[in-house]
Amino acid sequence: MKNVALLGSTGSIGTQTLDVVRTSPEKFNIEVLAAGSSIDHIRKQITEFNPSTVIMSDANAAKVLEDEFNTLTVLSGPDALKESVVACDIVINAIVGFAGLPVTIAALTEGKTLALANKESLIAGGPVVQKARRMMKSSIIPVDSEHSALHQCLHGYRSDYDRPSQSIKRLIVTASGGPFRGFSADELDNVTLEEALEHPTWNMGPKITIDSSTLMNKGLEVIEAHELFGIEYEKIDVVVHPQSIVHSMVEFVDSSVIAQLSMPDMRLPITYALNYPERNEAEWGSIKWDEITKLEFEQPDFDNFLCLRLAYQAGKEGETAPAWLNAANEVAVAAFLDHQIKWVDIPHLIANVLDNYDSRSAENEQDIYDADKRARRITKQLISGKANG
Ligand code: NAD
Ligand code: MG
Repeated sequence: MKNVALLGSTGSIGTQTLDVVRTSPEKFNIEVLAAGSSIDHIRKQITEFNPSTVIMSDANAAKVLEDEFNTLTVLSGPDALKESVVACDIVINAIVGFAGLPVTIAALTEGKTLALANKESLIAGGPVVQKARRMMKSSIIPVDSEHSALHQCLHGYRSDYDRPSQSIKRLIVTASGGPFRGFSADELDNVTLEEALEHPTWNMGPKITIDSSTLMNKGLEVIEAHELFGIEYEKIDVVVHPQSIVHSMVEFVDSSVIAQLSMPDMRLPITYALNYPERNEAEWGSIKWDEITKLEFEQPDFDNFLCLRLAYQAGKEGETAPAWLNAANEVAVAAFLDHQIKWVDIPHLIANVLDNYDSRSAENEQDIYDADKRARRITKQLISGKANG
């Protein structure tokens, strides 16, 4: 029986993780749940899964739950998130955004297995996360479908960050292309929030859905692949595959390509991460061969989807540049979701913020927090300048 900390339990990944846990009650015990402020949702989860600790980032929500469940430990804040991982065997980081960084660092520092959905922490905190990972030789099992696919395709080949296999020619990360695939610059100029929230193949939380529409999600995933598998950026390609059935591929030096296929269902990569290195019987994502008539592949449009180019640039720059990219993107996406800016403003804002990048190195956790703060401040200034002008 594995003791599980599920952080971000009320979101898209969080609820799908509980779907998986429900099917194997003899294997997993939910010890810790954490969420932002959604009391009604987490209340039902507490009743069903009976965790010993719950953490709410909203202190008022924590107080309400504390009064209601008297045998439950209810805490609030980033330190509580860090401490919560100690009593668990496996930590699922399903928090959205940079707020997931304390969990990633704490899980690795404590030598836990980290099932990572929260890509932002690995991207923003790259060099510092690697140090924590190395120190305890902790393992990260990716939950993101593309990286789960790569992890599976690399099975049997050394794919450590420090010692990538010489047999690997390149990683090919697939992208659905999002709702605006094939749009011209003029068409992109007028897209709406409602259209951006309509993803063609995946049903996800709002932030990653917008990231998918700008291809920033794919850009972040290129950095995520570099951080997970230690492969240089020149050997990581993106290929658009609208059906989202091939979840990514590895090409080896003898030109053989291995791919992982399944219907788009996040419960499959979650099952893989929870059970690794074993495999558990499951039907999520089982391919419906009678429904698949074709698998298409095309090159991404780097000119109209500037975010993808910006992510490669920030990734190659390294140090705190990816933290700047991530922070600028989070602020820009929040402003778009709040109707303050247009969809086309997102890449331009991020490019402007990155023009101010101060090239500071990423030695420790504080450097990452400082970089994040600086980039957020500049992005907000640019947005308010735009709103005023
Ligand atoms: P979501 O918005 O649906 O859920 C986010 C969860 O995080 C919620 O439970 C929310 O309450 C919680 N949360 C937010 N701030 C918090 C904080 N400060 N402390 C504790 N909890 C907090 O997001 P999602 O779509 O589930 O995505 C979660 C992560 O997984 C993201 O990093 C995303 O990129 C990644 N991911 C998601 C999918 C998907 O299919 N949804 C696929 C691949 C990767
Ligand atoms: Mg993905």
